[in-house]
Amino acid sequence: MPVVTDRKGLGGPGCLALLAAVLLLQAGPVAQQPAAPAPLSPRNANYDIQVTLDPATRSLTGTEVIEWRNLGTMAAYSVRVHLYWNAFRNTNSTWLRQRKLAGDDSFAEAPEGDFGYSEIATIAVINEDGSVKADLKPVLRFISPDDQNPDDRSLTSAELPVPVQPGEQLRLRITWTGKFPKNFDRTGVIGDYYFVSQWFPKLGVFEAGGWTAHQFFANSEFYSDFGRYDVRMTVPSGWMVGATGTEQSRTDSGGTTTHRYVQDDVHDFAWTTSPAFIERRQRFEHPGLPPVDLRLLLQPEHAGQADRHFAGAAAALRYYGEWYGAYPYGHLTIVDPPFQSNSGGMEYPTLFTGGTRWLAPRGSNDPEYVVLHEAGHQFWYGMVANNETERGWLDEGLNEYSDSRVQAEALQPNYLVQRFFGDFIPWQFRDIPLKRATDTNWMNTYRRLGDRDALSTPTFALWPGSHQAQSYHKTALMLHTLERRHSWDVMQKVLAAFFSRWQFRHPQPDDFFAVVEEVTGMPHAWFFDQIYRSSNTFDYAIERFDSVVPSSRGLQESGGGLAFAETTATGTYRTTVVVRRLEAGVFPVDVLVTFANGEQARESWDGRARWRAFTFDRPVKAVSAQVDPERVLLLDTNYTNNSSTLTPATEAAATKWSLRWMVWLQDLMMTYAFFV
Ligand SMILES: [Zn+2]
Repeated sequence: MPVVTDRKGLGGPGCLALLAAVLLLQAGPVAQQPAAPAPLSPRNANYDIQVTLDPATRSLTGTEVIEWRNLGTMAAYSVRVHLYWNAFRNTNSTWLRQRKLAGDDSFAEAPEGDFGYSEIATIAVINEDGSVKADLKPVLRFISPDDQNPDDRSLTSAELPVPVQPGEQLRLRITWTGKFPKNFDRTGVIGDYYFVSQWFPKLGVFEAGGWTAHQFFANSEFYSDFGRYDVRMTVPSGWMVGATGTEQSRTDSGGTTTHRYVQDDVHDFAWTTSPAFIERRQRFEHPGLPPVDLRLLLQPEHAGQADRHFAGAAAALRYYGEWYGAYPYGHLTIVDPPFQSNSGGMEYPTLFTGGTRWLAPRGSNDPEYVVLHEAGHQFWYGMVANNETERGWLDEGLNEYSDSRVQAEALQPNYLVQRFFGDFIPWQFRDIPLKRATDTNWMNTYRRLGDRDALSTPTFALWPGSHQAQSYHKTALMLHTLERRHSWDVMQKVLAAFFSRWQFRHPQPDDFFAVVEEVTGMPHAWFFDQIYRSSNTFDYAIERFDSVVPSSRGLQESGGGLAFAETTATGTYRTTVVVRRLEAGVFPVDVLVTFANGEQARESWDGRARWRAFTFDRPVKAVSAQVDPERVLLLDTNYTNNSSTLTPATEAAATKWSLRWMVWLQDLMMTYAFFV
């Protein structure tokens, strides 16, 4: 349970040292220097960066030294360096072209100052003493391996004069300038609030004999190796800074202050600065878990919501910590971005952005949800650092599924809120508590967009308008379906095993599927082939249901010949249920029939054929029939056709429907009122 503590002084990551000492003790006599923190990760991509922010020109100038070690088994003959801010250089960038495909033309009328860029001034291989070994600027070129867009400038490549052999280290020094784009898609500036992400020239990941480095697409997130980040940020004096890691020193010089932050065992570094933040601190403490110092940088108008931000972060640290494994860094910074900054809801190592409103009714998980979700990313994105550019679902979907469970455990009640008048005025529906299965797993978007792509499509190549439905919602529903088929206990073990085995590494989807099969002891290729490798959706329905006195007419054998006969049974009813598979997806389902005397009959069906008829001869009539009565298959896109009844619907069901209907109607009317 978190308790408030005083503001902590500047200092090193004491918790890491403690954790390292424990690890070293466990390691036994191999440990040479018990005082030195044991690396949690390979630390093969280390960045030493000095950067200065100039608010007058809204730009950065920086110098970085990258120490990169080749962990592979083959030599690297080149390096690939991302320049993410070039996504906002002009409307020909792959990023903006892709966004336009999905109907977002945000830069169509943009003035010059809205565009951003990243320009490398110098790039060189250097010796340990800093002297230049080889100037790479003459061989540096832009490449577009993913879409062959000759105008894209988000990825560069440079041939190396001498290849880097396995186990060898390369030192690069890069100087560059970066111009902030307008506040747009999680980076940029609004007023004097700066959110600085994907801001420095950054290496791709060298694996399987080549570089995994993609251009910057509108859907894609990021992928990098772990290392130590030692970053000095110079900003106007008096401005507050929040960053990955912890602050080591502050140095004033002529109206500016240089803040030095350091963090080991992370794969990215983000920061923010503004003169307007107010700061709050709490310490997360929970039995069995290492404490975490929480630092909250809040907009002044949200001062009354500090406790709700801490509650969201503490819920992630506690439940993910108990279920999957401990958060090891000892500190976590939450940034509350200003209204319309477009930087909310994004994760970075040991720091993330939330996002709240001035009006945020209690009893609904806004802002708790976004804080919980981004804090949860520390475990998947942060530690189980899979390739988000290609396999975003392995981070987002696992996180969405996990945070929906935390919301159900820890953040109740959670009532539906809809916003009106420009998405501003909230209206809380206290009659409608959100359901974990369908509401916090976002059934509504999956239902609309679940078949628009296969989940196995590289994330950057997903249709931009359906990426969320695929990577987040379809995956969450897939995992929740597995939970209903096995149990939460099994799923907790699956995710815990995946987390502990793959933290500080780079797992692939097959690594996750292997853990599912290992923990459940059952093959799951049939399941993942459909939900991961295809765009199939699922829909089982009751097509026909009746319960009548059986009768027959026609020719019957009689005395050596055939004679016409017409018979009607007495004391029995024949119940017929026809179940149909309406979509391509196949899943084993149960069929449950309830009779007038309360008895029930249950049949299992492998669900493979397009339809199947079940008949029951009983002395009583049937009253209802259901396919998948427990709703194991949450991926069924239409649950309203899963049941049929021979008696009028109950009053309770009618009330529930009318309430939903009212909400929908009210939403429609208020929206309409706003537009006219
Ligand atoms: Zn996310």
